[in-house]
Formats: sequence, structure tokens, C-alpha cells
Amino acid sequence: MKILITGGAGYIGSHVAKALLEENKHELTIIDNLCKGSQKAIEALRSVGEFEFIETSLEDVARLDEIFKTHKFDAIIHFAAFIEVFESTQKPLKYYLNNTSNAINLITLCNKYGVKNFVFSSTAATYGEPDEAQVSESTSQNPINAYGRSKLMTEWVLKDTAAANRNFKYAILRYFNVAGASLDGLLGQNYPNATHLIKVATQTILGKRDKMSIFGDDYDTKDGTCIRDYIHIEDLANAHLSALRYLKDNDSNIFNVGYGTGYSVKEVIEAAKEVSGVDFKVEMAPRRDGDPACLIANSDRLRSLTDWKPVNDDLKVIIKSALEWENKA
Ligand code: UDP
Repeated sequence: MKILITGGAGYIGSHVAKALLEENKHELTIIDNLCKGSQKAIEALRSVGEFEFIETSLEDVARLDEIFKTHKFDAIIHFAAFIEVFESTQKPLKYYLNNTSNAINLITLCNKYGVKNFVFSSTAATYGEPDEAQVSESTSQNPINAYGRSKLMTEWVLKDTAAANRNFKYAILRYFNVAGASLDGLLGQNYPNATHLIKVATQTILGKRDKMSIFGDDYDTKDGTCIRDYIHIEDLANAHLSALRYLKDNDSNIFNVGYGTGYSVKEVIEAAKEVSGVDFKVEMAPRRDGDPACLIANSDRLRSLTDWKPVNDDLKVIIKSALEWENKA
């Protein structure tokens, strides 16, 4: 397949690019403006296989148009986006512009140039504060922050576009909390000033931060801290390959991507201490704006309808790979 990956120099995009290059049967073009993605990831990917890298922003529609015109892509996997819940509550327009408006530019080009398949990075944040302990794809979506809303709007655009154009199919992947690094040590999270829990914990283990905070211990959960479903990056990456294969013979669909196990912030920190043997400093802090109490995936649909088989469903494996990567960073 001729595949365009947007945001392929980023954390998730680069791991998906690696998995596709390892299949050794696709023509890959990666675009990234390197505002969050890293040149290092692109260089690392060169050791896996050949691909084309174009440094450009999704805002440059004229350039994108040229790229679409000359490539005739079979599929787009769209990662390029901003992902920080708290920042989205402070700078909502930044999120709507990049996550919604730029996605619309891409979808428009797909229609103009007859691209048939669109795999979209969506998020559990589109569910908001779900009532159910485990969230299925049909759980109602009531996002509680601009990040979740910016992604949900793009989901709507995809659904409406596919309904109007029978030649256009989407797979929407709603990610839960992705963490860790590739087990061969080639790729990991290079994102500068990362705010995600496991990344912050590994930086604290290594003394890159003197302490870390738990944002709120008065949630209605077993120990008062927020619960999330942490999935290893390689299992998440492989879900995209499964989704592409699914789209070959099936119509559009939406898939939660998580393991279905929830860990509280305190449990993650305990596991990080155990894995590392370092008793790092943790302090309590107020709740962070935009955080729902609990998000756990029901991923039965992905498991039953596609060929996805997770292999790293183990919090300690996730933390260990993140720590090994952070140690080299
Ligand atoms: N969190 C925390 N301390 C940190 C980073 C995150 O207590 O330094 C909490 C955060 O409030 C949330 C959970 O960890 O409840 C997961 O946050 P993260 O930013 O990793 O992912 P999100 O669920 O926001 O996408």
C-alpha cells in the first residue's frame, strides 16, 4: 500500500511507521513539522527501512495538495495533533485549529484525490466522565475538555464524510493511555516537556526531576487517585496495522484501544518504584483541570473483529521499557 503518515516523527506515529517498515511491503511517506516530533526518530527509522520524509505543516494546504496529487495514497494514518489535556483547557483554539481544522484539510484532500482509507488517532478523552466502569465504543461521548472535543469533532467529520462518499472508509482508534518504548530500544517518547504520568515518573526515578506530583487524591476511586488503562506503545502501534487490514474487507468502524485494566496514579507510582528500586519523592497536589476520574477500555470489538493480539499487557514491562528509553535520552 502507499501510505501517508502524518506526525510520523512523533511518539505513536514513529512506532507505527516502524511496524509498517518491518512488514516491508508498503511505500511510506511521512510528513511532520517537527514541532513535537523528532528528527532523531526519523533517523532511527532509516535503519528499519526506506521511506520518504517531508517536513511540512498541515496548515500548508498548497504543499499538501501537491503531495496528494503526486502520490496517489491508498491510506492515510493521521497522528499529527496536540495531546495535552491541561494545555487544551488553557489554549483551546490551538487544539481546535490543529486537531480539528487541519484534520478537515486532510480529509478534504482525501476526497479530492480519491484516498479510500483513513485511520484516525482519536482518544478516550472523547468519552468525558463515563458512567460505566469500562467504556465501550457505544458509550456516549461527552468530552470534558477541549482536547476531547477537538478529536470528537474530527470523528464526526469522518463519519459524515464516509456517509456521503461510499468510496471513503475510516477506522477511528480511541486510544487509552499509551506509554513505554519499543522493546528493541530503537524508539521511545522524545516529546519535550512531557506531562504524561509514566514519562514523568521515569524522569523522577532518574533524577531529571527532584520530585513528582499526584494531581488529586479526592476522586471517587479506590484510593482517591485517577484510574487509567495504560497500554504499551507497540501493542497500540500494531492496532493500526490491524485496522488497515480490517478496512481492506470491511466497512468503517470505531475501536477502543486499551487492555481493559485500570491502574490508579498511586499504583503506577508504586510499580515505578518497584521496577526501578528507587524510592523517589512524590507530593500531593490539587486536581489538574480536565482530568476525568476513571477511563478503562472495553476493547472487545478490536479483539474480536480484527487480528489484533496484544503481547505486552503488563504495567511493569511498560514502565521498564519507558525507563530504559529515558535512561538513554
Ligand atoms: N498525573 C499525575 N502526575 C503527573 C502526571 C499525571 O498525577 O505528573 C495523573 C493525571 O492527573 C491523570 C493520570 O495521571 O489522572 C494520567 O495522566 P496523563 O497526563 O498521563 O494522561 P491523560 O489521561 O491526561 O491523557
